[in-house]
Amino acid sequence: MDLIQHADSPRYILLNELDNVVVVVNDQGVPAGTEFDNGVVTIDNVPQSHKVNLVDIPEGGPVIRYGQTIGYALRPIPRGSWVKEDLLRMPTAPSLDSLPLSTDVPGKGEPLEGFTFEGYRNADGTVGTRNILGITTTVQCVTGVLDFAVKRIREELLPKYPNVDDVVALTHSYGCGVAITATDAYIPIRTVRNLARNPNLGGEALVISLGCEKLQAGQVMHEGDASVDLSDPWLYRLQDSSHGFHEMIEQIMELAETRLKKLDLRRRETVPASELILGMQCGGSDAFSGITANPALGYASDLLLRAGATVMFSEVTEVRDAIYLLTSRAETKTVAEELVREMDWYDRYLAKGEADRSANTTPGNKKGGLSNIVEKSLGSIVKSGSSAINGVLGPGERVNRKGLIFCATPASDFVCGTLQLAAGMNLHVFTTGRGTPYGLAMAPVVKVSTRTELAHRWPDLIDIDAGRIATGRASIEDLGWELFHFYLDVASGKKKTWTEHYRLHNDITLFNPAPIT
Ligand code: CA
Repeated sequence: MDLIQHADSPRYILLNELDNVVVVVNDQGVPAGTEFDNGVVTIDNVPQSHKVNLVDIPEGGPVIRYGQTIGYALRPIPRGSWVKEDLLRMPTAPSLDSLPLSTDVPGKGEPLEGFTFEGYRNADGTVGTRNILGITTTVQCVTGVLDFAVKRIREELLPKYPNVDDVVALTHSYGCGVAITATDAYIPIRTVRNLARNPNLGGEALVISLGCEKLQAGQVMHEGDASVDLSDPWLYRLQDSSHGFHEMIEQIMELAETRLKKLDLRRRETVPASELILGMQCGGSDAFSGITANPALGYASDLLLRAGATVMFSEVTEVRDAIYLLTSRAETKTVAEELVREMDWYDRYLAKGEADRSANTTPGNKKGGLSNIVEKSLGSIVKSGSSAINGVLGPGERVNRKGLIFCATPASDFVCGTLQLAAGMNLHVFTTGRGTPYGLAMAPVVKVSTRTELAHRWPDLIDIDAGRIATGRASIEDLGWELFHFYLDVASGKKKTWTEHYRLHNDITLFNPAPIT
């Protein structure tokens, strides 16, 4: 155990020389009366990952972390205090009208040549990191039947086709009882369509439909074409069964076996690292997220981009307060304007529900030392590294270029994961401070802990411990390279992540901002 006892050496992390608060590193926190090596003496007991101020902060004075103002003191805060949420007034969100657009674009990094992984090439040019039989659905009415069939496929058919990794039902709650022509209905519809095209499903999925539902199979299978093509060999409609449930199961099993035979013939081949499409997100964050795990992801992201890959970051409510740091990094003014467009759409979406981005932080985030969404955002965007931002995707849109992409999604773990799968991600990385067993069925999920204590408590759920950065046992650069190599090994199937090992899968959770009927 490499935990740091507070009795030995009280430790803190200062992130930016402009900061007037530091974060306590010791696993048990530090008691009142602790003297740090910079002479600051704590006047409160301060838990791990919480903030202590280095100077007296007057009422109304800024509290600064990451070199940015995360709040204003509601009353004078004497030096050495535990600086927590109830002492702070949150700043207003930055205005979207006067942002720096593409004003500070980072240069391209030196190309990284020669890195590869073993993947499955698809007919559409994408590459899968897994070889999965996907069975998509147009409507929730078919879920029970399909789950029954999938259980039998997994038990009876899958063992006969050892080159196929899994069978996954893409079940969801959309498809009928919805206002299908409402303004925002394109989001769930294109998400269902693009999920079926995920590279890990071999570029095509079976489609199971009921028959009478609003979302017709044609809309799922072909963009902009609602007419159902009954001759499509990969489509089955339950209402076409003339002999009840058992015929439905037999039909689905037969289709699945035809497809399994095809998938089983596929073999991994060596492909350049540029074929990786990595989706990044965080969940159950704490004040260490922005110090350890997210900077390590940022470093690895810069490496992947130098190798020509596609890297996506997301979570609108967790970038909103730091948007001025992203619009300036956009490769072109158009990309910057697309970022602003997505922020503006989300502001209006939240306003409809009389909410704003402050609804994001959870009790666990606060317990983990994150006072508000401003502090959380500044730690969240560190995942995006230091490269130029090359593109923006709307929710459910499919990525069609390489580079660093902002994929606009809610921050909700399952919704973000689902939308990144629809965007075409073939590998997912997830940082967590509080801990979550989150996993996805369609892509491997690499779990990175922000603290060593969590990695020790959950050794069979956490793949990489970034807490080593806080305790000085590894640098951000070390962890960045470790992640980079781990990504390639997992992509190649040489390593399995823990959630894959145990098949821990969250449901596909569609983002549907449109009305249901
Ligand atoms: Ca999240």
